[in-house]
Amino acid sequence: MIIAVDGPAASGKGTIARALARHYGLPHLDTGLLYRAVAATVLRAQLDPAVEADAVLSCGFEDSLLADPWLRTDDVGKVASVVSANPLVRAALLQRQKAFAQQPGGAVLDGRDIGTVIAPDADAKLFVKATPTIRAQRRHLELRRAGQDPSLDKVLADIRARDERDSRRSDAPMVAAADAALLDTSFLSIDAAVQKAIELVESRRSAST
Ligand code: C5P
Repeated sequence: MIIAVDGPAASGKGTIARALARHYGLPHLDTGLLYRAVAATVLRAQLDPAVEADAVLSCGFEDSLLADPWLRTDDVGKVASVVSANPLVRAALLQRQKAFAQQPGGAVLDGRDIGTVIAPDADAKLFVKATPTIRAQRRHLELRRAGQDPSLDKVLADIRARDERDSRRSDAPMVAAADAALLDTSFLSIDAAVQKAIELVESRRSAST
């Protein structure tokens, strides 16, 4: 079974995808990490993320980079959303994601274009959302726990800017697939959101048998 989980930053899609992978015993790929690895490679080499050739050169990163906690920071996330708008970067990362989705037994992938581009034939597709304010509050709390203290307004502005870039780009924009089930986590606890996600996957599975 292939499960596609898409949605914006801090919507809860990563937590839900990991929980679904555990529940169904499937391997999981956080595809955002691939774009973050490209961004980190650009930043380390002091290249310009907006220059196409520089971003493309950075797609040949070592897999060990994916485990670097630096990749999960907001600074890297912001640059990831710049390099991810580059069609050549998306093309360079495409096969790896498709191969992961199509492995025997299936997989869970989360990102922005899983249900639309990477696994359009997925058995179940979820689009996870939450209001920008609630997503900003979640991200703010995470950053404070990590010892940083940006203002809530700045975090909200960053979230809005990232949503805008991710949904306006011409190649594989962030959009719910026509056959995706929408899951709004704004007022759900993590446990309730995961439970709801499992119910949605189950209803897709039973609808297709
Ligand atoms: O999900 P995460 O916040 O880690 O993603 C970082 C950035 O990578 C996103 O803002 C988006 O621009 C890009 N991305 C993408 N397509 C995906 C996953 C992530 O464009 N499938």
